[in-house]
Order: sequence, then C-alpha cells, then structure tokens
Amino acid sequence: MKHIKLLAAIALALCISFSAVAKPKIRIIATGGTIAGVSSTSASSAYTAGQVGIQTLIDAVPQMLYLADISGEQLVNIGSQDMNDEVWLKLAKRVNQLLNEEGYDGVVITHGTDTMEETAYFLNLTVHSEKPVILAGSMRPSNAISADGPANLYNAVAAAVSPACKGQGVLCCMNNQLLDAKSVIKSHTIDCDTFEGGHYGVIGYVYNGEAHILQKVTTKHTVSSVFSVEKLDRLPKVGIVYGYANCSPLPMQAFVDAQYDGIVLAGVGDGNFYKDVFDVAVKAQNSGIQIVRSSRCPSGPTCLNSEVDDDKYHFVASLDLNPQKARILLMLALTKTHDWQEIQEFYKEY
Ligand code: GLU
Repeated sequence: MKHIKLLAAIALALCISFSAVAKPKIRIIATGGTIAGVSSTSASSAYTAGQVGIQTLIDAVPQMLYLADISGEQLVNIGSQDMNDEVWLKLAKRVNQLLNEEGYDGVVITHGTDTMEETAYFLNLTVHSEKPVILAGSMRPSNAISADGPANLYNAVAAAVSPACKGQGVLCCMNNQLLDAKSVIKSHTIDCDTFEGGHYGVIGYVYNGEAHILQKVTTKHTVSSVFSVEKLDRLPKVGIVYGYANCSPLPMQAFVDAQYDGIVLAGVGDGNFYKDVFDVAVKAQNSGIQIVRSSRCPSGPTCLNSEVDDDKYHFVASLDLNPQKARILLMLALTKTHDWQEIQEFYKEY
C-alpha cells in the first residue's frame, strides 16, 4: 500500500512538473512559396518557389522550439500563383481538424506572398476556431543573402502561441507586423516590406518573440462565420473583370458564355463600368449571374448606390473588399443564397 502511495505521489509530481513546462502545441502546414524557394546563386533574384520541404524549414529556425512544441506537415509545395480552390478546401478542412479535433493550440501556414491575402481571407471565413491561425512567407528565397523567411516563421510561431492573437481571425505575419485577413494586401512586387493593412492598418507587431495587438478585429470571422467547407468538394465559379478606359466587354461576355455563377468587376474609381461592359453586366445579372462591383483603386471602399444604381440592377457593392477578396466572399455567399440583398448583407458583415 505504502508503495502504491509513493508511486502515485511520484506520478503526480511528474505530471505537475510536466504541465508546468508543457509548451503550446503548434502545427506548421507548409504550402510552398518563396519561403521554401531556392535560388541557383545566393546573389541572384532568379529562383524557383516551393523547393524545400517542411522539415528543412523547421530545422532552419531552432529558436522556435523554445516557444512551442512544433510539428509540421506538407500540404502542397507550390508557388502561390498556383493556389486553387481544391487546395483551399483541403487546407480549411485540415486546419479545422487540427484545432477542433487534434488538440493543437495554433496553426502556422507557410505560403507564397502572391496570393497570401486570398488564402488568409478564405480561411478567415471557413475556419471555426478562436485559436490563432497565422500565415507567414518571405520575399527572398531560403538561400538568399538576408533571407527573411526564418524571422517571419519565428514571429509567426510567436503569434500562434500568444493569447493576444486569439479571437482575431486569421492573421498574416510578415516583416515584424501582424495584419488582419480582411484588410491585408500585397503592395510591392519585390520589397520585404510588401504587406499593408488596407483600410484598417497593421493591427499589431511581433518583437522579441512576443506578439502585441494594437487594435481588435471587429468584422465577423471564424467562429461567427456562417460559411462552412465541411460538405463542399467544389466552389461556385466566380471570375474577375478588370476595368479601364475604352474597356472591351469580351472578358465579361466570356464568363457569361462559360456559365460562371458570379462576376466581380475591378472597376474604375468607385467601381464604375465602361458603358459596353455595363450592358453585358445588366444582361448577366438578369440571367442569374451575380455581379459584384469592386474597384481597381488600391484604397477606399466601393460604395453602394453611388454612381451606379445597385438597387435598380440588383448589383452588389463590395464595400471594403478588394476584387480578389470580393471574389472569395461571393464564392462562399453563393453556397448559401442567390438573393442579391442577402449577398449584399454578407458584404456589410464580413
Ligand atoms: N510567386 C511566388 C509565390 O507566391 C513568390 C512570391 C513569394 O512567395 O513571395 O509563391
């Protein structure tokens, strides 16, 4: 009996000391991008994205093992210009599984920077957890002089273990900054300081392995999102048409002919159409293809019923979403409804 009591006391002591040092469990999902890219010479800007695997990325940043219990998996290894619906559905399902079924405390996703903002926004609407989900990438390949990937990955893990980043939706962590999924935009083709916070600004930063949130995200996301990918194996087809002076209606007509479910206009100014494009858009809307007006301007909202009478034509205004994010919301909205007014409400909420 004495023996059993002693063993129980030792087991309890071990448990207590283990839980005192147990670190948060963080899973890194690698998808490729420049962070996994390799240049043929370290001084060259020519390189191929998505070359090195997840274990090489983890091994390059041993410092993050002090912050978390790290493990990784390779989902795909692509340049993010090749990101697609199939990978998005797989990724969202996997993140939900890791956070809601497998007991992980946070997820970091390594990703190319070209479409990082789109993936972040897609996950923001389809991951159902308050736990941190952080995307990180780099602008310089892994073997470049002053590669930025290792620091970005370390900072992303610091954000993923931080209570401050809980409930903020999906965040991008680049160049010491934290940016929310709705407003983050890639703004420069080659600089490390490429991500900007759009309408809302940068919402926080990571310094010395600690994340600091400066402002809370107030729009709906993650746990308050009505969108779910669990039963989806494909997404509605939505294309983007770019506006310009003397604009050809052919791309818009091509989407109509290909029976797309929705079309987003990257319009001029406050989401305005060239007249020939407008005529095709009205016909498309009347035939059941939802038109969403957004803008090619890098900043400012696309307002409802300003120069275009949206109520008359049943167009939807993208408000604070740029065309590429307006496309994502329209794809998910069309999994729920084809009512233009309900779709407009989604743009107000998300
Ligand atoms: N085009 C590549 C990609 O998006 C390189 C951009 C990057 O990762 O920085 O994956």
